[in-house]
Amino acid sequence: MKLKSLTLNGFKSFADKTTITFQDGMTGIVGPNGSGKSNIIEALRWVLGEQSAKSLRGGKMPDVIFAGSQTRAPLNHAEVVLSFDNADRFLELQTDEVTITRRIYRNGDSDFLINNKNVRLRDIVDLFMDTGLGRESFSIISQGKVEAIFNSKPQDRRVLIEEVAGVVKYKKEKQKALQE
Ligand code: ATP
Ligand code: MG
Repeated sequence: MKLKSLTLNGFKSFADKTTITFQDGMTGIVGPNGSGKSNIIEALRWVLGEQSAKSLRGGKMPDVIFAGSQTRAPLNHAEVVLSFDNADRFLELQTDEVTITRRIYRNGDSDFLINNKNVRLRDIVDLFMDTGLGRESFSIISQGKVEAIFNSKPQDRRVLIEEVAGVVKYKKEKQKALQE
């Protein structure tokens, strides 16, 4: 499974539709301060199901929508599309390509899509659970995260280790079964 592309449309500073395609090997994103590098990583976390506006440096979720500039009016919605090469069926879907889409409107309404079909946020979170790619997974190490891991309580650190080990899914299923 590989990342193929990430498309931002109206997300934060990306007022124009912008697609980043990932080639084999490593991808580096460089640019001056304030040019949108962190916004790209936030778009990635957002499309994977991030629910905390604060961790996206906003007060409420619609703050991720392009807020306007001196020369451009604000937009009414934001969309991010993430596409994976799934030829190896790493993600539990029987398609060679998997696309995840998330949209938000100024009034707070949202859409979540897997392969262009409407789903719930939960379906996206479930799809990536234990893959190492989820919204809070170890595959995205943000500024300050390393210190946070070292300074965290053992119980919190255990959650990270469990995600790495791939047992979170089973714990969630057990919890659900016990409730039923
Ligand atoms: P640095 O090198 O300092 O870390 P960076 O490349 O990571 O910079 P970002 O933090 O991604 O830059 O981008 C910040 C820019 O995005 C700011 O200019 C900010 O005004 C703009 N921005 C953030 N949210 C929005 C929004 N909703 N609408 C328009 N612009 C936004
Ligand atoms: Mg930054």
